[in-house]
Amino acid sequence: MKLSHEHIIPFSGLKDGSHEYDLALTDTFFEAIDYSEVRKGQVAVHLTLQKRPEMLVLEIELDGTVELECDRCSEMYQQAISAERKLVVNLNEDQFSDEDDLMTLPASTHELDLRHYLYEYVMLALPSRRVHPEDPGEPNGCDPVIIQKLEELAAQPETPDVQDDLSDDPRWQALKNIKFDQ
Ligand SMILES: [Zn+2]
Repeated sequence: MKLSHEHIIPFSGLKDGSHEYDLALTDTFFEAIDYSEVRKGQVAVHLTLQKRPEMLVLEIELDGTVELECDRCSEMYQQAISAERKLVVNLNEDQFSDEDDLMTLPASTHELDLRHYLYEYVMLALPSRRVHPEDPGEPNGCDPVIIQKLEELAAQPETPDVQDDLSDDPRWQALKNIKFDQ
């Protein structure tokens, strides 16, 4: 038992059958991952592990919130996430391999490090559009000062000088003359 970590499951001593675990992903979990987009979160993980001869079947449920940067106002907000994943671990090979939801470990392995998988499952559960909840009057909504500034910018003509530039362009003058002649 050289490793002692909540997200590493020592399975070699387990009897065949079903075993349940409740884990948590907290700020400490996310902060320990280099370059993680998520630095804060509270995600409950319910793990059902079926131990069979030479095989583990894991059903993993994630439910919680992570802190993300809003695409619209750049303030942080709480994003709810939930996911259900299945991971099959084959224990009858001599080498390690890792495909989407199937992992193969050497038969001598006695513990399962889930950290990489749990992090990946959280990443896959994130929405592509990351913005504050949009209900009007929602206390967690976008920063109203920043939204007002964005709206002011959007209301301004994007390139107010284009008309003048065109007027100076001889081709534009020629077009105007053609129009006037008709
Ligand atoms: Zn926002």
